[in-house]
Amino acid sequence: MNSIAHNIEQILREISDAAEKSGRKPDDIKLMAVSKTKPMEMLLEAYEAGMRLFGENRVQEGVEKRKELPSDAEIELIGHLQSNKVKQAVGTFTCIQSVDSLKIAEKINKRAGDLEIVQDVLLELKTAEQDEAKTGFSHIDDFFSAFEQIVAMENIRIRGMMTIAPFVSDESLVRNSFRFCRENFEKAERLFSLKDFDTLSMGMSGDFKIAIEEGATLVRVGSSIFGTRY
Ligand SMILES: *Cc1c(COP(=O)(O)O)cnc(C)c1O
Repeated sequence: MNSIAHNIEQILREISDAAEKSGRKPDDIKLMAVSKTKPMEMLLEAYEAGMRLFGENRVQEGVEKRKELPSDAEIELIGHLQSNKVKQAVGTFTCIQSVDSLKIAEKINKRAGDLEIVQDVLLELKTAEQDEAKTGFSHIDDFFSAFEQIVAMENIRIRGMMTIAPFVSDESLVRNSFRFCRENFEKAERLFSLKDFDTLSMGMSGDFKIAIEEGATLVRVGSSIFGTRY
């Protein structure tokens, strides 16, 4: 077995263990292979090993990789989306996980309308205090007021929420960040009763077990599958 296949198997086992430990079903948690910066051959190895869900953080790279991946594989955008990339992003990515302003949602909705499609998105919540994680709605009131308006957009379907925990060694800060996101996910469920609002995207290589304990339904794992990025 090649090492990518081996790593995927290992992560899937760890996901299962973390799920069972917290009384959840392993099948309720999806694994995304975050393939940003990695060459196409590595994505295809992961595909051969059974991976069908990939995450990219740059629009252009995602567009190129989309062309070369088999059609039953999906790529989602997990990096910040700039206005001038909306045109390329809509329709390329199965889901845009990084919607963090009303303005960008309006642009996505417009473009999706032009293409006559409905674009799946997640709304990204900023839950880390420190500066390096600048993306995501940073005020919960803004988040809910944007949510209310995005819900009404015809060519967008809100599938759930995404967050990035702080990069710190203090586990309780990481856990608090995931918990804050989950609590607001549940609040949004109650407020809007949306059909298909089923995705809570939380957790990366270093913290996905904590994320699963806190309710993640999708974990985004890069370096533990493909190796360190340089
Ligand atoms: C890069 C990235 C990941 C994966 O990070 P790893 O630590 O390599 O697992 C997950 N989510 C987002 C938003 C990322 O940018």
